[in-house]
Amino acid sequence: MPVPSSGFLSLGLSDKLTATLTALGYEEPTPVQREAIPLMLAQHDLLAQAATGTGKTAAFALPIIQLIGGDAAAGPRSKERTALTVKAMVLVPTRELAMQVSEAIHKYARGTGLCVVPLYGGSSMQQQIRSLERGADVVVATPGRALDHLRRKTMNLDAVRVLVLDEADEMLDMGFAEDIETILDETPDTRQTALFSATMPARILKIAERHLQKPRRLAIAREKTAAGKMPRVRQVAYIVRRSEKPAALDRILEMEDPASAIVFCRTRLEVDTLTETLNAHGYRAEALHGGMEQRQRDAVMNRVRAGKADLLIATDVAARGLDIEQITHIVNYDVPAAPESYVHRIGRTGRAGRAGTAITLAEPREHRLLRSIEQLTKQKIDVATVPTVADLKARRLEVTRASIRERLLAGDLDDVRGVVQALANEFDLFDVAAAAIKMLDATTDADAEIETEIEKEPARPSRGSGLSSPVRLFIGAGRKAKIGPGDLVGAITGEAGVTAKSVGAIEIGDNFSIVEVSEDVADDVIRAMKGASLRGKKVTVRRDRDPRQA
Ligand code: AMP
Repeated sequence: MPVPSSGFLSLGLSDKLTATLTALGYEEPTPVQREAIPLMLAQHDLLAQAATGTGKTAAFALPIIQLIGGDAAAGPRSKERTALTVKAMVLVPTRELAMQVSEAIHKYARGTGLCVVPLYGGSSMQQQIRSLERGADVVVATPGRALDHLRRKTMNLDAVRVLVLDEADEMLDMGFAEDIETILDETPDTRQTALFSATMPARILKIAERHLQKPRRLAIAREKTAAGKMPRVRQVAYIVRRSEKPAALDRILEMEDPASAIVFCRTRLEVDTLTETLNAHGYRAEALHGGMEQRQRDAVMNRVRAGKADLLIATDVAARGLDIEQITHIVNYDVPAAPESYVHRIGRTGRAGRAGTAITLAEPREHRLLRSIEQLTKQKIDVATVPTVADLKARRLEVTRASIRERLLAGDLDDVRGVVQALANEFDLFDVAAAAIKMLDATTDADAEIETEIEKEPARPSRGSGLSSPVRLFIGAGRKAKIGPGDLVGAITGEAGVTAKSVGAIEIGDNFSIVEVSEDVADDVIRAMKGASLRGKKVTVRRDRDPRQA
């Protein structure tokens, strides 16, 4: 029988929401969900430390849907839905996050009739007003735009029952403290409030003290023994956008050429999709997840053990208790939601003193999760650049060179010497050999076709900027602070919410770095980076040409 997502039911979530999560391929709650959902359903205020990638969005979205869903269940345009009046509000620091969170709530609320509206700057005010007039159950807003609507009286918060401050530390870093205060004053004192933040500095605690009532504190407990159990494995992370992950994985697998690997995904759906993609790309990949029957899973494991599969694509749940010898590579297609899962996953390689490699694909905003894994394991994760077409070509040629050498050592070439002789009469012998290698390496020409978006990825210090109007930014940390290109790109894309396309050439000096970014995002990046930290330290960020701005 397929394993149902009963882990969610035991948290107090309705059958309907549990069924939705099963359909989305979620196998079990993440730690922050396990802790936060029951507390929110019991209508406690909450002060939760959780970063992007831990599953925090679902941790507050699911309770919101359940708590106010009763009213919305009457269906769209229900009479209870009053124009301009909202029942739940989520405040987020950036427009990207507003879009993401509102999409997530929409996804989880499927079939409930609940209406979610995102409110952020840079998008039509009129359209947002029309949505609010039609009646929104939940709004997901940046503080600036929420305030705009309050001032114009196009949004009314008198009936707000649940309020979430998401990524509260970032909102403060971006200077939204006063706006948040004003917005909170517009909501009833009886509301339930949950504050989520990746860090818990004193400023956050002060807000919590003022606006949360008897909050339950939630910082996910760590398994203390984990570090001691860590095998010695090479650990590498690549910062890639979600849409670029399949192409990036292809290249990484080609470079690494694993003898046997497990690729971990978060959901069943992702396992199925990735398995299909990899099979289409010529790998022998097998899927393993809790949605499969025991019989199917046994068959998969038999094929893996018999060496009939190159890659096993699995969820954590399905891989639990698997006993496979000699796994050379663990790939985290997503950063695991809890650092402990990372330790469990990579514990499957590097066994009995053998060499092992752990590869992690992290999205730009998830660099904090990488840091917390490093803290837990007390081991460094190197941030590397996705192999380029040139890297792959070099590797293929190296493989060709090695196999020609082997062939030469094996001898027994007499039957083809005549052909070589004939060609040698007409051409230089060196050219003949080069032509033969070129034919062997027939895949080379196909390379041009796989020049995808990731070719334009930054984090390659040597390449040109590629930006149409680049601005050089001075960042006051460099090699001595152990800053690498990945840190810079991760921080810029993560903190400022700009895409990696807006980041160009990077130079890293001993004490400072220069990063080229598009002119149109330069100010955003400077503003966002001013409040942020790199490798745990605040850094100076300014335009390179004008030292007075320091
Ligand atoms: P977040 O930390 O909220 O940004 O979530 C990170 C990602 O994890 C999102 O893509 C979610 O869809 C996914 N996710 C959240 N909860 C779970 C879960 N329990 N199982 C699998 N995936 C999840």
